[in-house]
Amino acid sequence: MTEPGPARAEIVVDLAAVRHNVRRLAELVAADGPVQMMTVVKADGYGHGMVPVARAARAAGAHWLGVATLDEALALREAGDTGPVLCWLAAPGEDYAAAVEAGIDVTAYSVAELDEIAAAGPARVQVKLDTGLSRGGATRADWEQVLGHAADLERAGRVQVTGLWSHLAASDVPQHPANDQQEKAFREALDLAEALGLRPEMRHLANSAAAILRPSARFDLVRCGIASYGLDPAPGETPAHLGLVPAMTVRAPLVMVKRIARGDGVSYGHTWIADHDTTVGLVPAGYAEGVPRAASNEASVWVAGKQRPIRGLVCMDQFVVDLGDDQAEVGDEVLLFGPGDRGEPTAQDWAEAVGTINYEIVTRVGGRLRRRYVDRAGAA
Ligand SMILES: *Cc1c(COP(=O)(O)O)cnc(C)c1O
Repeated sequence: MTEPGPARAEIVVDLAAVRHNVRRLAELVAADGPVQMMTVVKADGYGHGMVPVARAARAAGAHWLGVATLDEALALREAGDTGPVLCWLAAPGEDYAAAVEAGIDVTAYSVAELDEIAAAGPARVQVKLDTGLSRGGATRADWEQVLGHAADLERAGRVQVTGLWSHLAASDVPQHPANDQQEKAFREALDLAEALGLRPEMRHLANSAAAILRPSARFDLVRCGIASYGLDPAPGETPAHLGLVPAMTVRAPLVMVKRIARGDGVSYGHTWIADHDTTVGLVPAGYAEGVPRAASNEASVWVAGKQRPIRGLVCMDQFVVDLGDDQAEVGDEVLLFGPGDRGEPTAQDWAEAVGTINYEIVTRVGGRLRRRYVDRAGAA
C-alpha cells in the first residue's frame, strides 16, 4: 500500500487480496472432492464494506454469500447480486416477503419460523440444527418435530428445503472434544432428515477454521468469513503456507508533531508521563473510529519506519504516539494496522494487545473513516 492516499484517516481495502483469499480457500477445500464456497459478508463485510467484498468474492468464484440479517441479504440484491444468498438470523414477526421474493435462502430454527416463512412462500428455506453451540438452531429434542414439519411443508409445495446446517463452538481449537461431538450430532441429524424424506442440496457445518483444519466437516459447502479477509481464524493452528493476505489497512496522517519534556503527562488523566524528553505525534482517529480504548498504552502503530507505542488514553477522535528522538513531520503516514509487510502491526497484533480477536478489531473499525478500495499488485 505504498501509493499516497488522501490526507485523512481512512480504511484501505485490497480487493485483490479478497479475491486471492477466496480462491486459495476454494482450492484448499475442493482438494478432496467438490465443496462449494460461501463467502460470509455479514456486518458490512467484517468492516471491509459488504458490497465491494461480495463482488470480489463472486469474481473469485464464491458460489454463495452468507449474511446474518434479511436487510443485509436485500442490500446484496439491491446492489445487483443475483446468486445464491443465505441469511440466518431473523427476529419473530420479521417480514420475510421481500427476501423470499428476492430468492434469498432464509433459515428456520423452529416450527413457528417455518410457518412464518411458508406464509410468505413458496420459499427457499434452510433448517439450522443446534448440535452443541447452544445458540441459534433447533434443539436436539426438537429436531424430529422441526425436520418433520419442514418435510410436510415441502410436500405441500410451500417451501423448498435447500439446506440443513449447524455451527461449531470450538473450530479454532482443533483438538477440542466439541468438534467430534458436534460433527457426530450433525451426521445424526442428517440421517434423521433423510428418514423423514428430506433431500437438501446443501449440508454444511464449517466456518473458516473448520474449513481449513477439519476436512471431515466440509460436507457440501463451507462458510468462510474471517479467512476471506486474510485473517487467521485459528492463530497458532493455521498452516502458514496457506498464504492468506490481510485485506484491510487502516492509515492516517500525523496531524501534529511536538516536543514534550520529561515529566509531562499525555492525554486525559495523564496515564502516561514522559520519563524522558521526547517527540509525540497526534493521530486523528479514536474510539469513535473503532480504535479500542483498551489500546491506550498497549498497542503500537507504524510511523517513520518503525512501530511506535501509543501513549496515554485513546480519545474519541485522536490519540498520541511516541516518536522518541526520531524525525517525523506533519503529514507523515501512520499505519495503525495492515498486512504487516511494511513492518506495521497486524489486526492480530492489535487483538493480542487489547485482549480480543482479530474479528472484533476489523469489524469495529469505521466511524468517520472512509473506505478506499485498491487492487494491490501481486496479490491477484
Ligand atoms: C459468522 C459466521 C460464519 C463465518 O465464520 P468465520 O469464523 O468468520 O469463518 C459462518 N457461519 C455462521 C453461522 C456465522 O454466523
